[in-house]
Amino acid sequence: MTRVSMQSLTKTYPGAQKPALDGLTLDIESGELLALLGPSGCGKTTTMKLIAGQLEPTAGEIAFDGASILHQPPDRRGAVMVFQNSLLFPYMSVADNIGFGLKMRHRPKAEIAARVADMLALVQLPDLGHRRPADLSGGQQQRVALARALIVEPRVLLLDEPLSSLDTHLRFEMRDLIRSLQKDLCITTIFVTHDQEEAVVLADRIALILDGRLRQVDRPDQFYRRPADQTVARFFGGHNFVPGTSDGAVFQSNLGPLLLPQGARKGPGTLTFRPESIRIGIGAENTLSARLVERVYLGTQTRLRLMVKDVMIEAVLSPDLVDGLETGAELDLTVPPQCLWVLEGVVAQLCPQRIHNVNPCG
Ligand code: ATP
Repeated sequence: MTRVSMQSLTKTYPGAQKPALDGLTLDIESGELLALLGPSGCGKTTTMKLIAGQLEPTAGEIAFDGASILHQPPDRRGAVMVFQNSLLFPYMSVADNIGFGLKMRHRPKAEIAARVADMLALVQLPDLGHRRPADLSGGQQQRVALARALIVEPRVLLLDEPLSSLDTHLRFEMRDLIRSLQKDLCITTIFVTHDQEEAVVLADRIALILDGRLRQVDRPDQFYRRPADQTVARFFGGHNFVPGTSDGAVFQSNLGPLLLPQGARKGPGTLTFRPESIRIGIGAENTLSARLVERVYLGTQTRLRLMVKDVMIEAVLSPDLVDGLETGAELDLTVPPQCLWVLEGVVAQLCPQRIHNVNPCG
């Protein structure tokens, strides 16, 4: 069980104009599974390499259980990295690949064999130790890579997009395996992904990095319900942003007055609410009259674009709830107060045509 602390961690690559990682301060609790989430190029792999000791920081500190690891060589840190491509040794058997770390530590052969057998069972490949990596599927190769990392009992497990080369079905399977292994073994784990859904399903907490900077670190549900700002909300699929003013109880905007939850931010701001939080029909509070502008069938859900006064909003609902609702229909909507969240800062409201992509406003 190891607590990882990063303090003002910064990396600027030689010749680069700006840091790839800019002042990251983040604590990861013992036994926690933290997802490092962000788009391509935001600095996720750089962070992992800094922890693993494959890169030196330009500034800042990394500590395990309060003790700096920056002076320690990579093989003494106890942080093991698993990559997107499993990088197994092709000419070694699966068992030899898994046992490699223990062999390097000069452990007795009998101990290695026993631990390899345990690991093969753990990653649910009990009978495949004799095979070569090339004779395994992509998902099986990733399980071997995971076993090879776990056998050395790392203090910290670093998983760098380990699922992104797998197809959907295997990804789900492997995701469940990682989650259950991590909880059973209680290894502090950092999981890098650009996939918001993967982060939400897997992680105890998510650290969202955009352009080298930490934007929010929180429980997964908070990114939907309490995003730190509009960019974070958009990264998590938020579409509804309405400028206005809050007195802490009511938000006044072009939508009309809407009752806010207790403790809402006061002053000028931007109201946001999830497309999934909108209900059809008249509610106890916050009912809006809307006109259906567009509907898009998404399979398990239907996305609606709706005009409320001069504001375009988006709702996502179960298809059976909107059966028979045609474009142009007038309907009542309700947005419960507890689903509203006031962001700091006022956004310019986009004109509906521009949102709808019909005519550029003019
Ligand atoms: P991806 O999801 O695509 O792997 P990432 O979030 O892991 O992206 P990094 O690999 O950490 O991003 O890269 C962050 C930034 O640093 C990028 O702009 C990248 O081009 C740059 N970068 C990464 N490695 C180097 C390097 N060795 N030399 C110079 N710049 C680099």
